Amino acid sequence: MDVKNLKPEAIFHYFNEICKVPRPSKKEERIIAFLKAFGEEHGLKTVVDEVGNVSIDKPATPGYENRKKVILQCHEDMVCEKNGHVEHDFMTDPIEPYVDGEWLRAKGTTLGADDGIGIASCLAILADDTIEHGPLQCIFTRDEETGMTGAFGMQKGFMDGDILINLDSEDEGEMFIGCAGGANTEAVYDYATVDLPQDAYFFRVAVKGLTGGHSGDDINKGRANANKLLARFLYGVAQETTLYLAAIDGGNLHNAIPREACAVGCVPMEYKEQLRIALNVFTSEIENEFAVTEPNFATELETAEPVSKGISEEDTMLIVQTLHAMFNGVYAMSMDMPGLVETSSNLASVKMKGEAIHVVTSQRSSIESQRRDVSSVISAIFRLGGFATETADGYPGWKPNPHSEILGVTVESYKRLFGKEPVVRAIHAGLECGLFLTQYPHLDMVSFGPTLRGVHSPDERLLIPTVEMYWKHLLDVLKHIPEKA
Ligand SMILES: [Zn+2]
Repeated sequence: MDVKNLKPEAIFHYFNEICKVPRPSKKEERIIAFLKAFGEEHGLKTVVDEVGNVSIDKPATPGYENRKKVILQCHEDMVCEKNGHVEHDFMTDPIEPYVDGEWLRAKGTTLGADDGIGIASCLAILADDTIEHGPLQCIFTRDEETGMTGAFGMQKGFMDGDILINLDSEDEGEMFIGCAGGANTEAVYDYATVDLPQDAYFFRVAVKGLTGGHSGDDINKGRANANKLLARFLYGVAQETTLYLAAIDGGNLHNAIPREACAVGCVPMEYKEQLRIALNVFTSEIENEFAVTEPNFATELETAEPVSKGISEEDTMLIVQTLHAMFNGVYAMSMDMPGLVETSSNLASVKMKGEAIHVVTSQRSSIESQRRDVSSVISAIFRLGGFATETADGYPGWKPNPHSEILGVTVESYKRLFGKEPVVRAIHAGLECGLFLTQYPHLDMVSFGPTLRGVHSPDERLLIPTVEMYWKHLLDVLKHIPEKA
């Protein structure tokens, strides 16, 4: 089966076309040129802004002129991942989609249905004069995947509409009405370096094999945080004996739950056996507590080469205490949206740089004031421990509004078409929608799309029958947009 012949034809025709246009994040020049040419060829008002966002306006179908204006929004770029053995240059080679049963996949690479289906939907609507809709603006944003560059850089006045429909969701039958904002709180502790007692027992201890995951989406899944586990063990040791740390390292990305952490240190030689016993007890306690979510959790303890210099006993204690006391995980659940994490924090990474410990934590919330609150709690803990700390500006969230007008239209339409209730959800991660609200606070927004799985990996696949449902739904929503007040 050729991709071009899949139904709905209009979407798959344009999807197939844009598979030929390279569009890696931050290298969107060709898709921008493609979109600009498309708008101009169709005689539509087309604007490209300084950061590379594209806007194409289309007037209302006769009879729909007095409807509220709708912005259909998607992103230009795609994540470019391929399997190790695959020869593919994302800067020049086309994506090669193929049909595999009910799924559309790409040969050895990401498919780019995230967000190629959003782009294709916009093009199909812009090109077709038989589709009924009010005044429309299609917005294609730049670099959603690696920095939301387009959404951050968009100036006031570029978008012009009352309602925004974001076409970047991945679950057919689910309507998204909120997302979390976020900010990182980083902290630094300048420690005193001392000569370590060379007659001590030097060891290296590690926590490993944890599940990890996304620090937003997965924060409520009961997974262990490697930095927290390591701090818990070291704190226990420091209560029993003299502990000096010589190295500590855990986690990497600010948006990932850390899977591994390790430390090098020393304790008095006579505590050597006790240290092993303490780790065995700790390991069995953690295995018991996290039996369901962390089946591969493991610890390691090995004798290390003596190190001449390390962190003083007092500073070791403060560092370990601070990490152990650090708030981590779900801070508050939403009262509007059952099951939604409203606010959280992730103790993302602990690193040694020069003669200082650097810690990165990341906070998220769909309510900006609560995000600031949890960030200030984190800062307060760091300050108690003598760390210098700072919270970066971050990006704003989108607080769910269960009474939104466009949500009402979207839900009614879905029920009328498919005879069932759609799921209404918010996510505990960032979407471009949150950023739009800073410049366009009046926008009434909703997000939906066909079902995608394995996004951002070569396993990315699109569930073909859901595209037809999504397309019918989108066209029906456009037809039922309320009139301007
Ligand atoms: Zn996307």
